[in-house]
Amino acid sequence: MTPAAKPPVPGVPLFDSHAHLDFGPAAEEVDQVLARAREAGVSQVAAIGVGRDPASLVAAAEIAVGREGGCATAGVHPHDALLAEDLLPLLREVAAREEVVAVGETGLDYHYMHSPKEVQRWAFRAQVRLARDLGKPVVIHLREAHADAMEILRSEGVTETGGIVHCFSSGPAELAEYLDLGLHISFSGIVTFPKAEAVREAARLTPGDRLLVETDSPYLAPVPFRGRRNEPARVVFTADTIARLRGEPLDLVAEQTTRNARGIYGIG
Ligand SMILES: [Zn+2]
Ligand SMILES: [Zn+2]
Repeated sequence: MTPAAKPPVPGVPLFDSHAHLDFGPAAEEVDQVLARAREAGVSQVAAIGVGRDPASLVAAAEIAVGREGGCATAGVHPHDALLAEDLLPLLREVAAREEVVAVGETGLDYHYMHSPKEVQRWAFRAQVRLARDLGKPVVIHLREAHADAMEILRSEGVTETGGIVHCFSSGPAELAEYLDLGLHISFSGIVTFPKAEAVREAARLTPGDRLLVETDSPYLAPVPFRGRRNEPARVVFTADTIARLRGEPLDLVAEQTTRNARGIYGIG
């Protein structure tokens, strides 16, 4: 299915549930990025924090402070799991801040394997525990690690704290297991990629009260921007594609995904 060349501005504001606003652009550029998002009908953006050092660990939270509708997360990405033990004390402090609405992104990535599996598992488990301690949801990044992830999520009681499988890139079988754990499912520009038929099937099957949309900016720009720098305004292309896959009006998808994002992040 080909996405629209230019989708309409939705009548209901969209919420980009996952964007890295601190990767590259200077602060004034962040304001421009957010202004373009508002023009496109995207009123809220979760600034996802991934720390490799103390400065990057707080960068997303700092972006959220003082900006209208600003919210952020804080975590250590599975790529950087080797750094997690040292960063954990600071992560506890940052994740407890008011503008920080979730722990993550954290998870397991056995595709790139920038950190050994056992270290990734330790860091993921520690962050799911932290989320539970703080009573905040967890933002989960998973790649080629479904079975190990399910074991950790189950044994650490993720159902109690809630969470988002971000940038969902598996198919209906895995989807059913995440839904059983009570998790929310966030779809990125991958739904617009020609080969992503299993992901599109998952987007059709996800219940309306668990569905989220994201850009994962600056990565994963949807068709027709694939390969270029992504930004939150383009989440409209993903939402429009999902609406057409589900045979639903764009405004309904916008209304549901925004309500779900605000609900899981505990906003308003
Ligand atoms: Zn990710
Ligand atoms: Zn991300």
